[in-house]
Amino acid sequence: MSNRTPALVESAARHLVPTYRPRALVLDRGAGSRVWDIEGREYVDFAAGIAVSALGHGDPDLLEALHAQAQKLWHTSNVFLTEPPLRLAEELIAASGFASRVFFCNSGGEANEAAIKLARRFAANAGRPPERRVILSFHGSFHGRTLATVTATAQPKYQQGFEPLPGGFRYAPFNDVAGFDATFGDDVAAVIVEPVQGEGGVVPAAPGFLAHLRARCDETGALLIFDEIQTGVGRSGKLWAHQWDGVTPDAMTLAKGLGCGFPIGALLVGEAAAQTLDFGSHGTTFGGNPLAAAVARAVLGKVRSPALLENVERQSQALRSGLRALDEKHGVFAQLRGRGLMLGAVLRPEFAGRAAEILDHAAHAGLLLLQAGPDVLRFVPALNITETDVAEGLARLDAALAAWRGQR
Ligand SMILES: *Cc1c(COP(=O)(O)O)cnc(C)c1O
Repeated sequence: MSNRTPALVESAARHLVPTYRPRALVLDRGAGSRVWDIEGREYVDFAAGIAVSALGHGDPDLLEALHAQAQKLWHTSNVFLTEPPLRLAEELIAASGFASRVFFCNSGGEANEAAIKLARRFAANAGRPPERRVILSFHGSFHGRTLATVTATAQPKYQQGFEPLPGGFRYAPFNDVAGFDATFGDDVAAVIVEPVQGEGGVVPAAPGFLAHLRARCDETGALLIFDEIQTGVGRSGKLWAHQWDGVTPDAMTLAKGLGCGFPIGALLVGEAAAQTLDFGSHGTTFGGNPLAAAVARAVLGKVRSPALLENVERQSQALRSGLRALDEKHGVFAQLRGRGLMLGAVLRPEFAGRAAEILDHAAHAGLLLLQAGPDVLRFVPALNITETDVAEGLARLDAALAAWRGQR
């Protein structure tokens, strides 16, 4: 027991730009789906660093990939080739089923920024004037925090005070075909959509919705971009969430789970727009860094295994039935939704806005949990989480809900 926590929490409050309001604990180490704070308290990890640590903490194969590359070469920039990002590109292209080229970067926001630039340039190359290069996104979406991606993020809370926002963006209602049709037009250069909205509350695309977007984009020559930054790399129970819908995009963005915590992002592009971002048109100093690429290759190799994707389905069922049982006991959830190990439990209307309180109780009970907006508890554990850890996490959530109920 060190009891350094209060001083470090105070340091965070004093020295970090206050963009986050983290819980009063300081994590120290992890193994699988358990983490320990600097006081030695242990937690079940249902958060996985916001759907990032897809293989949990301390996976030996990822450690080996990182160590081996660290001893060879850390960084060269993209003006000199290294092998890991080239192999990773080959593997991603083969696994994607549609892409013919890849652009690597360091985060989801950067991947979407690249996708938006790709769409603009694609339209420009087709002779469209600037006013016919609109990016269409959906209410409730989340695409990042850079100025362009936060503009694509059609949620006012992320945009307020950052005006003037870049022009040429428009928003449609999600899962609403008629509403989309009323917003779409031949001035749209690209439609960007999450197959399951993440930050917006864990909302899957309705059956047929993505297919409808595909059909409309095909009519006008607009690009269809799937933001699979949160849903991709096995999170949904398939390697890519759009496989559930059987719809192929023109471009797809990845980040979160791809590096399992080592920062990396990627834009995958199908043949039609594969060479749109041509020499000199875009760039990055760190993107495709050999350390990140070496780790991501190890991640992709493991996540693609049928056994892992089966585990996602199995633990998804275990989580769902456990959450239904907790709801019977505590009467808190209005709805369970999501796919694979990306689940949202929507709080009943009388508890609207109170997800953060439950997260505090969860941490106190030894469970790291997330919200997706003020009304939804979000469950995004590691894809290789065990039955034991799911059961233990649910038991701790039970204790947290009991404590919260006792208080409210
Ligand atoms: C997290 C996320 C992003 C942004 O990724 P960063 O790495 O935080 O820039 C974009 N889109 C979706 C769907 C996300 O979940």
